Amino acid sequence: MKLSVPEHILSIKPYSPGKPVGALEREYGIAKAIKLASNENPLGPSPKAVKAIQDALDNLNRYPDGSGYYLTKKISGKLGVLPGNIVLGNGSDEIISMLATALLTPGDEALLTQPSFLMYDIMVRSVGATPVYVPLKSLSADLKEMKNRITPRTRLVFLNNPNNPTGTFISKAEFEDFIEGVPSEILVVLDEAYIEFVRGDLCAFGLDYFNEEKAIVILRTFSKAYGLAGLRIGYGIMPELISNLLHRIRPPFNTNVLAQIGATAALDDADFLNKTVRLVHEELDFFHAVFDQKGIRYFPSETNFFLIDVQKNADEVFEGLLRQGVIVRSMTSYGYPEYIRVNVGVHEENVRFVEALESVLKS
Ligand code: PMP
Repeated sequence: MKLSVPEHILSIKPYSPGKPVGALEREYGIAKAIKLASNENPLGPSPKAVKAIQDALDNLNRYPDGSGYYLTKKISGKLGVLPGNIVLGNGSDEIISMLATALLTPGDEALLTQPSFLMYDIMVRSVGATPVYVPLKSLSADLKEMKNRITPRTRLVFLNNPNNPTGTFISKAEFEDFIEGVPSEILVVLDEAYIEFVRGDLCAFGLDYFNEEKAIVILRTFSKAYGLAGLRIGYGIMPELISNLLHRIRPPFNTNVLAQIGATAALDDADFLNKTVRLVHEELDFFHAVFDQKGIRYFPSETNFFLIDVQKNADEVFEGLLRQGVIVRSMTSYGYPEYIRVNVGVHEENVRFVEALESVLKS
C-alpha cells in the first residue's frame, strides 16, 4: 500500500490514555489493581444516571434524538443559557475537535499553554493548523505572555481552567485583564472540565463572561464530577453564531441515547455531586497532610488530581507503582520528567497509593 499521508497528520503524537485496570492486571498478573491516572470519579457513576440508563435500555433499537432535546433543555435551565447556546459532544473532546474543524484552516495558529491537555494539540494539528505554545509560569497560564504571542494568524486560544495537569486556576482579575486586549476575531475556549472542584471564589468562571457578542466558548464534561467518563458526554456553551457552525459539522447522532439520558439524570443528582466534591476536598487535604509530614513535594490543586515531584525519573516511579498495582500518570510526556500526576481515589485507595509511593521512592 502506498498512501500519501498529509504531513500535519504525521506530526501528531497519538494520545496515550491512562492504563486500564484490566490491562495492568493481565500484563503484570496482579489482582485488585487501582487506577488513579485519568482523573475519574472514584465513587462510581451517579446512581440516578445508572437508574435512568437501566430504564432506557429497551429503546436501543432507536436512533438518539440528534438534537439532545431533554439534556440541552436541562443544561439550559441549570446554567441560564439558551438551548441554542449549547452543543453536546461525545465527551468534551468532540467539542474541541469540532471547534478546530470549524474555525481553523491550514497555517492558522492556536495558542496553548505548555503543558496543557493533550487533545488541544492533536485537534489543532489534525486540521493542519499550528499549535503555538506558551510555557506555564509557576505552573499557571502566563496570560500576559499569551497575549504577546497573538499574531494575525491566531484564531483560537485554549485555556484550561483549572489546568490539567497542574491543577492551578486562572483568577477573575487575570482573565479579565487577558480578554480585554484579545481581538474579537480570536475565539477564547475556556475548558472547565474540573470546575466543580474549585474551592473559594477567586477562580474565573466562564459563565460570568458569557454573552452572544463575545467570542468565548466554555467546555464542560460529565466525565469527572458526575462519574460518567465511560458514557462519553460533554458540552460546549457558546454564542449561537458559533453553535450554528458546529451543528453544520456535527455528526447527526454524535451523543448516544444512554449518554443523553444518563447525563440528564445526573444533573438532578445533587447528592452525588456534593458527595464527590466533598470526598475530593477531604482526600486532597489528607494527601497534603501526609506529604507535608513525609517531606514529599506536591503542588496544591483546585481539581481532583495533583502533581507530585518525585525527584527521580518519573517513568521509573510510574513503573514501580505499576508493579504494586497502582496506576498513576508519569508527566514525562508533559515535559515534567520528575513529576507524576495522581487523582484522588476513595480513602483506602489513597492510603494504598501513599504506601506504594513511599516504598518505590525508597527503592
Ligand atoms: N478537558 C480536559 C482538561 C480534560 O482533562 C479532559 C479529560 N481528561 C477533557 C477535556 C475531556 O473530557 P471528556 O472528553 O471525557 O469530556
